[in-house]
This record gives sequence, C-alpha cells and structure tokens, in this order.
Amino acid sequence: MSEATEEKPKMKIGILSRNRKLYSTKSLVTAAEKRGHEVRVIDYAKCHMNITSHRPSIYLGDEDLRGFDAIIPRIGASYTFFGTAVVRQFEMMGVYSVNESVAISRSRDKLRSLQLLARKGIGLPVTGFAHDPKAAGHLVKICGGAPLVIKLLEGTQGVGVVLAETGKAAESVIEAFRGLNANILSQEFIKEAGGSDIRCFVVGEKVVAAMKRQGKEGEFRSNLHRGGTANIEKITPEERSTATRAAKIMGLNVAGVDLLRSNHGPVVMEVNSSPGLEGIEMATGKDVAGMIIDFIARNARPGRTRTRGGG
Ligand code: ADP
Repeated sequence: MSEATEEKPKMKIGILSRNRKLYSTKSLVTAAEKRGHEVRVIDYAKCHMNITSHRPSIYLGDEDLRGFDAIIPRIGASYTFFGTAVVRQFEMMGVYSVNESVAISRSRDKLRSLQLLARKGIGLPVTGFAHDPKAAGHLVKICGGAPLVIKLLEGTQGVGVVLAETGKAAESVIEAFRGLNANILSQEFIKEAGGSDIRCFVVGEKVVAAMKRQGKEGEFRSNLHRGGTANIEKITPEERSTATRAAKIMGLNVAGVDLLRSNHGPVVMEVNSSPGLEGIEMATGKDVAGMIIDFIARNARPGRTRTRGGG
C-alpha cells in the first residue's frame, strides 16, 4: 500500500483549545497547515450551543461553527464538564473527533480509569479506595504497609501526591484528606522506579514516541512541572503493548500513557487524553503533531466517532 504518497482530500480541522499560544496548539496548527489543511483554533469555553435543536449547532458569538471535518479536543482539566459537552455537540453534528467525548470523560476520572484497566488485566500498582476515614488502617494494609503513596483523586501535575514513610503518617494523611472531604487513593509505592516514569505517546494503537521523565534529586515525582527532566527512551515490547492496550481500553486514539517500571512489570499510572506535545517533541525530536494530523487524515469520516472503550 502506498498510503504515504496517496493524495488525500484536504480537511477543515478545528482545534479545541483555550490558548492558541500553547506549544501543543501551535505545533498542531503548524503540522496541519504544512499538510495543506485548513485549521482553526476554537476557544471552546467561549462557545454556546442549542442542545435541543433538531439541527445541532455550536456558536462562537454570532458565528455558526459549521463545515469542520474533524476536531482535536485539547480540553483543560478544569474545563472537562463544559469541554466534553462541546465535543459531544460536534459529534452530534457528525464531526469526527480524534478523541471522543465519552473517552475524555472516562479518562478524567482516575478511579474509573483504574477500575476499567484492572478489569482488562493491565498492570497497575496495588491501589485502595475508601470513603470512611476509619478505613485508613485497612488502606495501608492493602498497599502492603509503608512506605505508600496517597493521592488526591482530583490532583494534577503531581500536586496532592504524597509519599508516606510510615503507616502512622499514612493514616494521618488519609484522615486529614478525608476530613476535608477530598477523595483519595492509597497506592503501593513503586520504589524501584527511582523517581522516574515513562510517557508513552500513543496515536492510533501505536506508541509513536516514548520518553523517560526523571524527578529532580530527592523527588519521587517525575512531573516536568516539578522540575523533572525528559529524555528519549527505548521501551520494551511489554511496555509498548501495555501502553497501546491501555489507550484502547480507554477508547482514546491519542493518549499519553504514563508507566512506572516496577519489579512486577510495567504498571500504568495514568492515561492522559490531552497529552502535551512540547516535552515529547523536544525529548524525542519526533513530529508527534504531524502524526496526529496524519492519523486524522486517514480516519476522519463524518459520524465516524463512536464509543470504543467499555464503561
Ligand atoms: P498527577 O496526575 O498529578 O501527575 P500521578 O499519579 O501521575 O499524579 O503522580 C505524579 C508522579 O508521582 C508520577 O509521575 C510518578 O513519578 C510519581 N508516583 C505516583 N504514584 C507513584 C507510586 N505509586 N509509586 C511511585 N511513584 C509514584
């Protein structure tokens, strides 16, 4: 098949992003334009819609947003509720979304994601969840005792991820968070990961780029926002299949799958539906944005977006 050389009809692509100056947004715009597509950045938070209309539509001020062949949702964590409603509305209009609304919502719920991945046998750190602060001792036990990690369910970029060195410390942290009504997970501490994780960038059932992020000295969290560094990394076939399977289970065509290298094989931390492009493109030198646009060109058809993952 000479897919690469085949002439594809040009598309009109909408990028749902709050900020056209973000590296990821700019990179997608450049990649789309380079391939001759028409591209527009849409600040989805400023859109409104008539959800009951028999002719579904989305407006930006007075403008009726029509004629898009595909959208790329880049929905910020704090806009999940409204942002996925906008994506859903585009889907109702028959516009292809590279990641569908249901999959984005699913991936934003850490607990639900872990349960879905566990059901399909994906490697995960032993994880506990409880409502009652009195269950704190049991959560510590589930994780095999201290040290263990306590995580706020709503946290991002490593904020609200705590390493408890002793069982007593863990119980106090759990009780304190629960006292504030925050939902938390307790998790086995993967010490052997040595403060690093592997970000596998998945596009259409393939890992197209992978990097290792290393937390700064004395930090167990590898988040780049916390001063971690990133470098291209060769991954094992097992890591590759774990990442692609995890994205598929979540129903995401484009995903950032974060793995830790544990003594019992790769374990999934998180599956991100709007993975950043800056870190991965800089670390690997790959045109990841271009691969996303090429994937869309191969797959976008009116009404093609549909629920693939379960739950
Ligand atoms: P966030 O979504 O806020 O980034 P994560 O759950 O991804 O939170 O945790 C942030 C970082 O902390 C991870 O990238 C990883 O480096 C480290 N970390 C998280 N959970 C564990 C764990 N169970 N064992 C070892 N390190 C962990």
